[in-house]
Amino acid sequence: MLHSESTLRSAAPSVGADEVARLTEQAVVLAGGTLLELHPTRMGKADVVLRGAQIMQVGGRIADDLPRVDVSDCIVTPAFTVGHTHLYMALTRGMPPPASTPRTLTDHLQWIWWPLDKALDDDLVHASALVGAAMAAKAGAACVVDLHSSPRAIDGSLDRIEAALDEIGLRGVLAYETSDREGRARRDAAIRENRRFLKRVRAGETQHRALVGAHAMMSLNDDTLDALRGLADEFGVGLHLHVAEDATDALDATRNKRTRLEQRLERLGVARPGSVIAQAVELAPEVVVELGRAGGFVATNPRSNMRHGVGLFGGSGDHVVLGTDGLDGDVVAEARAYAFRHDEAKDGLGREAGARIAAGQAMASRLFADPAPPRIAPGARADLAVLDYNPFTPMNQSNVIEHVVRGWSATGVRHTIVGGRFVVRDRALVNVDERALVGRSRPAAERLWERMQGYY
Ligand SMILES: [Zn+2]
Repeated sequence: MLHSESTLRSAAPSVGADEVARLTEQAVVLAGGTLLELHPTRMGKADVVLRGAQIMQVGGRIADDLPRVDVSDCIVTPAFTVGHTHLYMALTRGMPPPASTPRTLTDHLQWIWWPLDKALDDDLVHASALVGAAMAAKAGAACVVDLHSSPRAIDGSLDRIEAALDEIGLRGVLAYETSDREGRARRDAAIRENRRFLKRVRAGETQHRALVGAHAMMSLNDDTLDALRGLADEFGVGLHLHVAEDATDALDATRNKRTRLEQRLERLGVARPGSVIAQAVELAPEVVVELGRAGGFVATNPRSNMRHGVGLFGGSGDHVVLGTDGLDGDVVAEARAYAFRHDEAKDGLGREAGARIAAGQAMASRLFADPAPPRIAPGARADLAVLDYNPFTPMNQSNVIEHVVRGWSATGVRHTIVGGRFVVRDRALVNVDERALVGRSRPAAERLWERMQGYY
């Protein structure tokens, strides 16, 4: 039923469909590109042979009769992972601003993001996810780690996102944003929705993965922390929520819950394999270290932090990844902001932008339990981004990060390949007709903005 809600797939041009089928069913060669892994940095020219969902061969003698895609003057790199996002925000670009200028994070939540999620109905959840996935795919991402909220359209919402991801061709790690801000019934529905989708993942009914989702510590009562922990224990998965985006979580803990934020996180049991905490701007460093040791991740979102006027997360390590926090799916833009913000802070982390991108790729690999790490090597998953990039200045292994943060752009993404399938080819979405998508998404955005007026 969900697929029939969208006619986009059937509206995709039939021209080229045979070509796509041909490329996905047999081996194909990406020929003449510069292969690049960002951390540890490895770079060199070689042809790559893909077969099925995997990379079959890198360099060496390649059979002449295989179909070839010319990627000379291009970078071929493992596709990006958006380590934390909200696909439900994808239709907000250009919407009217609130009457007053938000000054605090709470202003942003109460004047923009909460009226938005309340205004989402079933169709808008699906339309938002389609647009969000389309933007991510066109920016070179293969995987999005999404935290969804639509408190007036909770039941089945994760299936609608799943359908949209399948239509575009991306992989997702999905979670519903449990919160006590809208009362007990909606909290229970949120937990139910998380459980329902986790069961589908466990039963192998979906190709995607799931985490136990929640909004933020400040909007969770103690018994909700216990319920979320129970769900994570039951399914053996991590949690995905915002923590300490500003000082509100800590103040709420001491003033309203008569305890400390660290003790509430302990009660939630957030330090476990696969957990993703977003922001962590005001989180104690020892909590971040403990999370990393336990196999969890921090998703830092520097552009969102700038827009919300909160600080900068100063942690580092293989467990720190980049998110886009609903702005778009553009990990390259996020890496640029990460580098420049940390340069400004003079904390030495700016040069780690490539390591942050690679950490996100490794996180996706862990969450999907891939047998091989995200490298350009035989046996690895064939998730690749191909960028047009032929710089005017020398590029080598030692200076490539400078090229990433000053030279790369999502508009340079020529192809995005997910599990061996082209989902973006020659800058265009393969599986949906972009004009049809625009034809659906613009009226949907107008309808959403109109509906938001009722929730201010
Ligand atoms: Zn977020």
